[in-house]
Amino acid sequence: MSVPAPGRAGRILFVSDLHLSEDRPETNERFFRFLREEVAGASALYVLGDLFESWIGDDDLDAHDGSTLNRAIVTALRELPRRGTPLFLMHGNRDFLIGERLCRDAGALLLEDPTVAEVGGTRTLLMHGDTLCTDDLDYQAWRATARSEAWRRQFLSRSLSERRDIARDLRNRSRAMTRSKSPEIMDVNEDAVRSILRAQGVRRLIHGHTHRPAMHEFEMDGVVCERWVLPDWYGTGGYLEVRDVSLRLVRFEADGSS
Ligand code: MN
Repeated sequence: MSVPAPGRAGRILFVSDLHLSEDRPETNERFFRFLREEVAGASALYVLGDLFESWIGDDDLDAHDGSTLNRAIVTALRELPRRGTPLFLMHGNRDFLIGERLCRDAGALLLEDPTVAEVGGTRTLLMHGDTLCTDDLDYQAWRATARSEAWRRQFLSRSLSERRDIARDLRNRSRAMTRSKSPEIMDVNEDAVRSILRAQGVRRLIHGHTHRPAMHEFEMDGVVCERWVLPDWYGTGGYLEVRDVSLRLVRFEADGSS
C-alpha cells in the first residue's frame, strides 16, 4: 500500500504503542494533551499500531456498556482532520480489530502494514513491527490464528463482556510469555528488516512494537539505511517528529513536557 504525501510539507508526527486503557489515566491525559499541544497544526499524525491496550470491536463505541474512554479518544482524534491534520492509523497486535466504523468516526485513514509513504522527502516504510520479530515463533503462530477470518468472526460474535474477559486473559497470558522469553527473541530479526527494505526498495523504516526507541543506522548493498523505533507510552512516552527533511525522536519528561 502506498499513500500520497500530505499536501503541505512541514511537521509530521509518528506515535505507536500508547496502549491507552482505563487502567492508566495519566497516560490518557498525556495523550489528550499531546493532541492539543503537539499535534494541532501538524501536517499529519501517523499512529503505527497499539493506540489501544486492546480493541474488542468497533461496536464497543455505541454499546450502552461500551468504554467511555474509547469514545473520548475517538472524539479527540476527530478534531485533527477537522482542523486540517490528516490522521493515519495502522493496526498493532493489540488493536488489530479496529475497523471501518472507528476510522470513519475518527476521520482516520487505515493503513495496511506495511505501507510506503513519502516522509521528509524519502520513501519510507511504515510498519507496526511485530511481523519483523520472526524469532518469536509462539507469537507468530498466535498472530496467524488471531488474524484469520475464522478467529475474527468467532471472537466478534461474542458479547462485549465475554470479549472483554477474553482480551484480559490474552493480555495476562502474553505478559507471562513475555517474562519467560529472552529480549533478543522479542526484538526484530535483522534479516527480516533487510529483506523487507530490499523488497520494498526503500532505505528507511519507521516502526514501533518492540518498545526500544532508537535510531539504528546500517549499511546494505552499499547504501546507508535507517531504522527508527518509536517509544512506547508505558514509560513516559514520546514521538518521532519529521520537520522538513530531518527526523528526531522526542521523549516526554516525567512531568509530561517534551
Ligand atoms: Mn505491539
